Amino acid sequence: MIRDIAYATFDALGGNALLRARRPGAPVLCYHDVRATDSTSGDPGLHLPLDQFVAQMQWLAAHTDVVPLTELLGRQRQGRSLKGLAVVTFDDGYTGVLEHALPVLARLQLPCTIFVTGRAPAQPRPFWWDWPALASIATDPAHRDRLLVEWQGDGERIAAAMALESTHEPADCLPADWTALRHVRSSMVEIGAHTMTHRNLVTLSDSELRDELVDSADAIEAGVGVRPRTLAYPYGLWDARVAAALDAAGFEAGLTLDARDVVAGDAPRALPRTNIPAAITTPAFAAWVSGLSDLRAQRASHG
Ligand SMILES: [Zn+2]
Repeated sequence: MIRDIAYATFDALGGNALLRARRPGAPVLCYHDVRATDSTSGDPGLHLPLDQFVAQMQWLAAHTDVVPLTELLGRQRQGRSLKGLAVVTFDDGYTGVLEHALPVLARLQLPCTIFVTGRAPAQPRPFWWDWPALASIATDPAHRDRLLVEWQGDGERIAAAMALESTHEPADCLPADWTALRHVRSSMVEIGAHTMTHRNLVTLSDSELRDELVDSADAIEAGVGVRPRTLAYPYGLWDARVAAALDAAGFEAGLTLDARDVVAGDAPRALPRTNIPAAITTPAFAAWVSGLSDLRAQRASHG
């Protein structure tokens, strides 16, 4: 609350506008899910209430020029200015994005990219971080190494290691199926890849890594009719070997969660994004997206 007053005061004094006027780069925003109910199921950091999403998109439409991710990439490649631009992305392909976020974006005529996990749409089941038994520890830094390194962020391994039954709950945290994704794909809604099984790519062997990338492109091409050109690294985790494999697999861009603006000279397979946590308030959002970068250092627990 006190921090919100500080953010609002900073804005009222012209701070946000001054930051935007001076920044050379463009923020790429990373969302996950948008929900219209007050349900608290799933990872609490990922499911953004619809009214907050509406307020954030209205702010973006009023203060930035929101462009498709591929347009940002093209401008960056050509050495053109990125000033004043912003990009909206969603990881994981949640049903809530199609049902609640896309109508808001259509009304405001804002484009977006949805990064789809290749294996999810054929048989939509909740992701491991939304399972009731794991929602409380999925975001806990103390468990991060075990979940994402030792068990590679692999839902099957995590379920086996923790002796959890496979579950269809929570039912309001499901990924969208292929029919729904095919229906929404358009020039305003790009579909990117988010690997095949959402494992931590850094921990995989060379052949596993290649399969994760190529298989997800194949699955998405078969599912929605267009081969994805961009990929968001699961959990934002990548290294030079992963970026090289992405290049070899034919992707133009890889998106991280490195929490800063995209600027001229950024490597296309290591483009930073700013995670927007579900609990963020609109004054904080306005400050972060205006470029108050030291205050958006809160790293995503998940990507
Ligand atoms: Zn993800």
